Amino acid sequence: MPEPVAGPWPRPAETPFSALCWEIPGSPDPVARPAPAAEGTHTSGMRCLFRFGAGFTALLALAACGGPAPVVPAPRPAPAAAPVRITPAAARQLGADELGRVPVLMYHRIVAQPRSVYDRTPADFTAELERLAAEDYVPVTTAELVSRRLDLPAGAHPVVLTFDDGDPSVFGLTPQGQPAPGTAVRILLDVAAAHPRFRPVASLYVNEHPFGGDADGRALRWLAEHGFEIGNHTRRHTNLRTATEPAATAAIAEEDALIRRAVPGYRPATLALPYGSSPRRPELALRGPGYSYGGVLLVGSGPAPSPCAAGFEPGAIPRIRSQSTGPEAKYGSARWLDELATPTGHRYTSDGDPSTVAYPRSAAAVAPECASVGLAY
Ligand SMILES: [Zn+2]
Repeated sequence: MPEPVAGPWPRPAETPFSALCWEIPGSPDPVARPAPAAEGTHTSGMRCLFRFGAGFTALLALAACGGPAPVVPAPRPAPAAAPVRITPAAARQLGADELGRVPVLMYHRIVAQPRSVYDRTPADFTAELERLAAEDYVPVTTAELVSRRLDLPAGAHPVVLTFDDGDPSVFGLTPQGQPAPGTAVRILLDVAAAHPRFRPVASLYVNEHPFGGDADGRALRWLAEHGFEIGNHTRRHTNLRTATEPAATAAIAEEDALIRRAVPGYRPATLALPYGSSPRRPELALRGPGYSYGGVLLVGSGPAPSPCAAGFEPGAIPRIRSQSTGPEAKYGSARWLDELATPTGHRYTSDGDPSTVAYPRSAAAVAPECASVGLAY
């Protein structure tokens, strides 16, 4: 499906715990944030299926009391609990399909007066999050997706919320250090507080001077400390297709360094291509001098394959523009969420067991990395 071509900058034109780990030689460490020991980090070179506990529910409820709600870190894995082992019969009853498709939603600005199809109003954004929660979607980050750290309640579906360009309408801190009212992150936190299964996490792809400045890196550190992913969107929103190879790799490496300098100990894990434009050698988006990523996001134009499906390409992960009405709405999120919800929508549905990848025998082929934990029914 065609996706509208990117517009000029700065208008976005594009666009409970581990039950299983296995070694991926040379695999990048997807997330390395300076978080508490209970954080869902993992050893570099390992791939893991993690279990998010229900234990964070009580923490989230604390944030539901109105006012400038205290913000708690995103869902932590619960203490090791014996996972419930899924059986083929139970997987069938659930309709589990862990080779199903995952919507990776793309946002740019959240503003009262949209100026393009890339803008959403706070009301529209809130409504979309409420819809996702009502349809039993659970947000995960891109880093979690590409490293297959998808442990969701039985019957739930993963969704990735991505925000490009570091717009001030997406995030900012009050002088008291709380997410600013009206920003996308504040709205996400408020919706999650009302829906305890809905994890308040997202992946924010930034350039230099994110969120209107952040000269001291305070905003980026807040995000990392609260379970949000900070991704690379190049230092100056470079079109990697038209740039020379040295300029393209420098644009990526320089932003990577800026993020790591702002958030000591943090290592960006994924990149969103400005304008959806790949370097002429596409592998340079994944790996180059000074950087190595587990995933690269495109701009369009449909759901992403499961990271355990044979067709999953970490270097070319499609996204869906958040949109409900207006021109080209047929490429937008409302239409895709409608389709994914149909019996033939091939939507990723969790079996609730982080140690298996359950899927109907009629599903797509399983990726080699997941074959040993596959449960076909
Ligand atoms: Zn952009």
